[in-house]
Amino acid sequence: MTEIPIRIYPDPVLREKATAVSTFTPELGELLDNMAETMYHGDGIGLAGPQVAALQRVIVVDVSPDRSDLIEFVNPEITSSEGTTSSEEGCLSIPGFRETVKRKERIEVKALTREGKEFTLEADGIKAICIQHEIDHLNGVLFVDHLSRLKRELFKRWHRKQQEA
Ligand code: ZN
Repeated sequence: MTEIPIRIYPDPVLREKATAVSTFTPELGELLDNMAETMYHGDGIGLAGPQVAALQRVIVVDVSPDRSDLIEFVNPEITSSEGTTSSEEGCLSIPGFRETVKRKERIEVKALTREGKEFTLEADGIKAICIQHEIDHLNGVLFVDHLSRLKRELFKRWHRKQQEA
């Protein structure tokens, strides 16, 4: 497994919409392996294709404290959701910035395995939040896009300072 360089905001690839996977090749498995490696190395709980410049609808998630619950989603789709919850989020593509974001509390997700087999999964808590954050990436959406206008201004100011530093 190889670590892949993570694209950092404002890299334009983070704003691209990823394409659905239609062929289930060994290369797809390799990409997922490398994404998991990259996520673990970065101490993240999730990673989406566009973050490593792979514009395919693939995400990996592991929210377990002992890093033993890796889930791979190919072409994930939220099929139902309920409730709302807010918690502080961060992103491997926006290192150093964290802010509270509102999300759905419980979700049901439909996706494919790396072999192309369909599965559904119900999630709540941090797992549901993480899956929503990662699916957003597949649509070119970042967690800072969900912030209020005021907090977005704070983010922009923070980002300008980072670039000056
Ligand atoms: Zn992210």
